[in-house]
Amino acid sequence: MIRPEDLLRPMPQGLYCPPGDFYIDPVRPVERALVTHGHADHARPGNAKVMATSQTLDIMALRYGEDFAGARQVAKLGEEVRIGDVTVSFHPAGHVLGSAQIAVEWQGLRIVASGDYKRRADPTCLSFEPVPCDVFITEATFALPVFRHPDTAAEIGKLLDSLRHFPERAHLVGAYALGKAQRVIKHLRDAGYDEPIYIHGALKKLCDYYQSQGIDLGVLEPATVEGGKKGDFAGAVIVGPPSAFADKWARRFPDPVASFASGWMRVRQRARQRGVELPLIISDHCDWDELTETLDELAPQEVWVTHGREEALLRWCELRQMRAKPLHLVGYEDEAE
Ligand SMILES: [Zn+2]
Repeated sequence: MIRPEDLLRPMPQGLYCPPGDFYIDPVRPVERALVTHGHADHARPGNAKVMATSQTLDIMALRYGEDFAGARQVAKLGEEVRIGDVTVSFHPAGHVLGSAQIAVEWQGLRIVASGDYKRRADPTCLSFEPVPCDVFITEATFALPVFRHPDTAAEIGKLLDSLRHFPERAHLVGAYALGKAQRVIKHLRDAGYDEPIYIHGALKKLCDYYQSQGIDLGVLEPATVEGGKKGDFAGAVIVGPPSAFADKWARRFPDPVASFASGWMRVRQRARQRGVELPLIISDHCDWDELTETLDELAPQEVWVTHGREEALLRWCELRQMRAKPLHLVGYEDEAE
């Protein structure tokens, strides 16, 4: 009788598959890595071989340079590939462009490592696809009942309202470079906002890449004032990585409205601490309802819970008489939030 731990187990380098001799999202360089998505805590340079979706491989090359790995292998969504004694397949995770869950199967036992995922519609990536499995590995970034992400269009509506009320003020929106920034821009476009949107230089490569993949972000201009005046940005939307808003770069804009798009904006104190005037609760992770609905839908024999607030979700599983345990993986932070 094989046990799930014989197929996947946590190691210091990451989640290891002995019968396939590979790691999923290793935090240290390994011989063979399978990577769920391009966020820096999941996708790291220096592995000998990397298997991921073509978009995740492209994103890794954009972030780390073409030599980010010794060899690349493209994972086509839904296609079964044999590695050692194991069959692996990649399935959309709905998290960011290119993101995938990884299913591993061996001797009739299937484990799905979902990586980071969400269930609500995101116009910049494919939707999460439920994959039947014996063991489901879930993230727990927002795994507390207090986290219920509101409707995204309504959050974008708050930004549009503010632009109408304060046409003389620049609106600085903090959003992480991979996924969140493009999603905020795309939601603005879908809401009918067709002015140029100004972006910090750190977002350019990834915004260009999203556009090249058919995600229409409209007219994007660099948020630079060389030869211009402060007033040039009155009433404009400027999107940049959250870190940029703390430095000199942000001071060039007229009477800015500080905004930040993050699941953490649900916590008012966090918004206040960061000096955020206009918090936008927009997350690329599941909220509590999305997590529990996913577990109910998949009804796996066992749930492994990782990176985040494990306890509440473990307790929820216990009450549901669903077997569950924390998976102690180290080295994952929520870059995307
Ligand atoms: Zn992520």
